[in-house]
Formats: sequence, C-alpha cells, structure tokens
Amino acid sequence: MKNTHVLLIPYPAQGHVIPLMEASRCFTNNGLKVTFVNTEATHKRIMSSWSKENDPSDLMQMVSIPDGMGPQDNGNDIGKKIETMFRFMPNKLEELINGINKTHDEDITCIVADYCMGWVSKVAQKMGIRLVTFCSGPAAVMALIMSIQKLLDDRVIDVNGVPLNNQMIQLSTNMPPMTPAHFFWSSIGDSATNKIVFENTIVGGKEAAETADRIICNSVMELEAGAFTLFPKILPIGPLLATNRFTKQIGHFWNEDSSCLTWLDQQPVCSVIYVAFGSITIFNQAQFEELALGLELTNRPFLWVVRSGTSGSIIDHNKYVYPSGYIERVGTRGKMVSWAPQQEVLKHPSVACFMSHCGWNSTMEGVSNGVRFLCWPYFADQFLNANYICDIWKIGLGLKKDDKGIVTRVEIKSKVEELLSNNILKVNALTLQEKVINSLQEGNNTSNKNLTDVIDWIKGD
Ligand code: UDP
Repeated sequence: MKNTHVLLIPYPAQGHVIPLMEASRCFTNNGLKVTFVNTEATHKRIMSSWSKENDPSDLMQMVSIPDGMGPQDNGNDIGKKIETMFRFMPNKLEELINGINKTHDEDITCIVADYCMGWVSKVAQKMGIRLVTFCSGPAAVMALIMSIQKLLDDRVIDVNGVPLNNQMIQLSTNMPPMTPAHFFWSSIGDSATNKIVFENTIVGGKEAAETADRIICNSVMELEAGAFTLFPKILPIGPLLATNRFTKQIGHFWNEDSSCLTWLDQQPVCSVIYVAFGSITIFNQAQFEELALGLELTNRPFLWVVRSGTSGSIIDHNKYVYPSGYIERVGTRGKMVSWAPQQEVLKHPSVACFMSHCGWNSTMEGVSNGVRFLCWPYFADQFLNANYICDIWKIGLGLKKDDKGIVTRVEIKSKVEELLSNNILKVNALTLQEKVINSLQEGNNTSNKNLTDVIDWIKGD
C-alpha cells in the first residue's frame, strides 16, 4: 500500500526544528510518509547530536538543501541569512522535489512549511502542491502577521514595518494588548535587520498564509482563544511535546547532558530553579556574573543551562567567566550544563520554577508541566509571550532591569522568593496545565481533533 508523502520544512533555528520534528512524528504515527528538509548547516548539527534511540520511523527521511550561505558568512547575521535563503532556496527545493518524485514510489503531494519560510508557497504554487503553513510561535504572532494591512491602514506601522507611535494596540478585544516596539519584527536587531525580517518573513509569511490550504499552530485554544477566534483559519494543534507521548525530544542542535536528570533526582520535590534561555539569547559578561550571583543568593538548588554558541552558529564568541570562587561556593547546590533535555527537566517533580527567556517552545513546555515562570524576554515574540505568562494567564512574574539595563542579583533573589511564596500563581499554573493537557484528548475543538482532521485532509480522506 502506498503512503501519502508530505514534505516538512522548518526555519533553520532550534526553536523551529524541534516542534516540526514532533509534528512529523505525529504524521508518521498516522501512516504518512515524511521527508524532513533542513538546510545543510542545520542537518549537520542535528546529525552530530543524533543518538541511536532517536532514530525516526522508517516512514521518515531526513534530507538537506543548501541555504546559500558561504563558509565565511556569519550564521548569526539574521538579515543576511534571511535574504540569502529567500533568494537561493526556492530553486534548490524545486530540484529536490523533482528528484524525489522521480525516484520514489510516492510523489510529494503536500508541503508543511514554517511560517517564517514564506518563499516556500511560491514553489508549492508553481509545482501544484498543496500547502500547510506551520506556526511554531504563538497564534497571536500569526494573527499579527495576517493583520499587516490593517496595521498599515491604521498607521500603526510604516511600509517597512517601523512603528509610527508607541500606543498599545489590540487586534481584538479578546487579544492581549501589544506594544508596537515589541512587535516580532521590531525586536530582532538593528533597523536594517528588522526591515529585512519585515519584508521577507512577515510580508512573505502573510502572503504564504493567505494562499495556504491550512494553517496549523503549536498552541492551544484555551491559551489563545482571542487569536483563534479572530482568524478561524489558524488551527491549534499543540502542545507538540515529545514528553506528552512518553518519547524523547529530538532534533537538538547540541548534545544533551542527561546528568542533570540524575542530579534532579537527588533534589527535594518542588525545590529547583531551572534556568534556561533557549538557543539564541546572549548575555554580556556583566549580566552573566550578576545572574550567577543572584542564583547563589537565592540559597536554593538551581539547574542552569550555560550554552556555547547559538542556533545560528556553534562558534562561541562569548565565553562566559564565572565570578571568582563561584563554582566552589555553590558546590552541588548548583548544576550547570551546556544543553539540557529540557522537556524531561520540566517534567521532573523537583523543578519548582522556570527562569526563562519565554521562547514559545519553552513557554508551551513550562505551561504543559504546570511550572511557574520568571520571565526575562530577549527578542522577537518573547515580549508578547511574557505578557501572556504574567498578565493574561497569571502564572509568572517579570524580572525588571535597573537603570543600567541589568537584572541585578537582588532583583533575582527577591523575585524568586515572591514567585515561590505565591500560591495563587501555583494554582493558576496547575489549572492551566490541566486545560492544556485536556486539549490532547479526543473531543470537539481540541488540538487532538484538529491534528487528526489535518492528517486526514493531507491523506485526501
Ligand atoms: N532546549 C533544550 N535544552 C536546553 C535549552 C532549550 O532542549 O538546554 C529546547 C527547548 O526545550 C525548546 C527549544 O530548545 O524546545 C528552544 O525553543 P524556544 O522557542 O523556547 O527558544 P529559542 O531557542 O527559539 O529562542
């Protein structure tokens, strides 16, 4: 019997690859054949941290195409990377699909493309292949992208996406208020980078979403009802977490250090501060030291991911130095790892709270495990996500910077104390966790139902 063949293509960054890999495992579990396309650089990184137990189903193949960046190019230069990819990758994808269709029994009949890879829609249209847009971020960002024309008409932004004033806006009364300066594309880098992101990712993403046959989002109706109601075409299918299906998260760019799970086993229940800032956030040395000293000051056990390099490049330009005598002083009370099996960490009963940059995956992973957050957003959608956590869902607190732009050790200690002594936040987090997990059960309007419907539609049922 032939299987329907679907091609999945993420944006080349850690937070986009992990949820799409989980989606592809849901697809193969339901009998779809999957070709997962990474850029060559991403493919290399994933394969170098791949372990035997990660081996995907026989129905899944991992392939790669070049992104056009040369060996001398800086993978952390987001503007350059996006411009190059948007110019270079369409032909490469077309060649790949033609090659696969010639050599495989099953032609590719559907493409699932990340919402930040808008260029894929032109390839899909040209080749007559059905398209699903996959939103790896919050539905609110997808809604914002689909509202670009309204933002232009209302003179909230100019044609380059630059905010024209700083008045809060609300896309609908049920959606969180947003600060234009914190729009996804306004919070990436310098103005030239933001303009490139706006032109390609956002305007391109809007066109792709409009032409897509379906839009699926790694979120849950109960978390973002306002955005899903405003744009019913966006369907929640989350949370896409391997640990929800009792498997291991795959697609890591770094080797996971699982010794932290053994260390967690030795800590009291609900005692540990888990500190991790995703795959892109970088601190300066002064902030790094202040964070180290703040964690020491809490007098609590902490597990801290101190990463080298970023999603864009493994080369570590920013070697952090711990304060003098720090490692000896914190001893076994502090556990530092270079990359954690985060979903398993957040599921562990010893974890009390999550100090996070509020990337959308980290947000979904924390919410799914009922943990409370200390929010330290860095860029892109993270300000909006922190807003959801602190003001809408009320399951966390924000860390404030002082007038020098530093989150001080005193702020860290006092917010940890405030968070952990606040029982209302704990109850809210557990209530929200229940709602989110319920969405994985069968029933109308659930993520489970939406995912099943999309899979049936891809199969042509
Ligand atoms: N992650 C991980 N180990 C770590 C830190 C992060 O496995 O030590 C995973 C995390 O579980 C999440 C992803 O990396 O799935 C980061 O995505 P997110 O959207 O939170 O942040 P980004 O890296 O995109 O800023």
